[in-house]
Amino acid sequence: MTIENYDFSGKRALVRVDFNVPLDDKFNVADPTRIRAAIPTIKKILSSGGSVVLMTHLGRPKGFDEKYSVKHIIPTIEQLLGQKILYAPDPMAADKEASALRSGQVLLLENLRYYPDEEKGGEDFTRKLASYGDVYVNDAFGTAHRAHASTALIAEHFPDAKLFGYVMEGELKAIDQVLETPERPYVAIVGGAKVSSKITIIENLLDKVDSIIIGGGMTYTFMSAMGGHIGESINEPDMCETARGIFRKAEMKGVKILLAEDAVCADRFAEDAQTKICPSNAIPEGWQGLDIGPAAAERFREHILECKTILWNGPVGVFEMKKFEAGTRAVAEAIAQATKQGAFSLVGGGDSVAAVNEFGLANQVSYVSTGGGALLEYMEGKVLPGVKAIRG
Ligand code: AMP
Repeated sequence: MTIENYDFSGKRALVRVDFNVPLDDKFNVADPTRIRAAIPTIKKILSSGGSVVLMTHLGRPKGFDEKYSVKHIIPTIEQLLGQKILYAPDPMAADKEASALRSGQVLLLENLRYYPDEEKGGEDFTRKLASYGDVYVNDAFGTAHRAHASTALIAEHFPDAKLFGYVMEGELKAIDQVLETPERPYVAIVGGAKVSSKITIIENLLDKVDSIIIGGGMTYTFMSAMGGHIGESINEPDMCETARGIFRKAEMKGVKILLAEDAVCADRFAEDAQTKICPSNAIPEGWQGLDIGPAAAERFREHILECKTILWNGPVGVFEMKKFEAGTRAVAEAIAQATKQGAFSLVGGGDSVAAVNEFGLANQVSYVSTGGGALLEYMEGKVLPGVKAIRG
């Protein structure tokens, strides 16, 4: 049963989307990417003669709160969908609106997280939501790692009528390709601030990849673990043993680990700091590494260009500041170039997606994942409740 071959005619489809988009201070949608991504699924159902009840969450409200109302996103949905939509102000009292839906119409339920039962998976809450639809479509990859009412539990009410939308299908296909049948050589580039938040994924990747480029703030914990001097760079001393363990395991498994040999160092964590290039294991007191240096950027570039599968999660420097974005830009450009030469590249995780968007390279990589936590958990080998609920 797939979105492509399911017969939606005369059916009301209950579609869980991830419209948890950022809003600006005037409550306008600041980045419509997630809404745009779900439009093909909605259009497919409507054009096959069905109607759609949209369910989403928005932010983390504590009870009913206008600030988190989905009313703010209605104009953007209507504009991207090219038609007016209906709105149900209370997801627990939408019977009238749902039963009045005609084929071709869309009804948006108010923020499900107004009710704590969404996250708790309350039985009555879940049953009520289920009563609004004939078929359940999960298209919310970003929340697939949560066992919430609308993302997972609700599927039990549709044993013969549950399926993934196009966003979910696309995400799973791209990630499965990287996880299960990667063309080699296969490199993972893992950046970000801390070893502690990336350790599970790095350990899991050791069984799958040929090489790992470790970048970002993590570099300095690794350098320190090998006896290097890292000045004031971000450091997690309690992760030193873990870092040494990663080197040992990598060696046993024949996985090459690439660490930046040089760093753009700053005398403070600020855009207008003084900077200089230092070896990453000889950073003077009072200085901190905030980006990979030019020698590392060049070596990483050459390595990436030799690879056929590339997975990227996490920036290799503090790319939010212009002075420290060059390394992350070099990595993004190398991935785009490798992709042009035929490599398959998957970019995921909030910050690396923000980076490829900022550098205008999002359409030059093979796949940009909409999932942050969900992507990482899936790649760590965990079963995502939202995926299991459909696949079984
Ligand atoms: P994460 O959410 O763990 O992927 O971390 C992303 C954050 O790591 C970004 O906001 C970067 O600014 C930060 N980051 C990258 N490199 C460094 C570094 N050398 N020192 C401090 N923070 C860094």
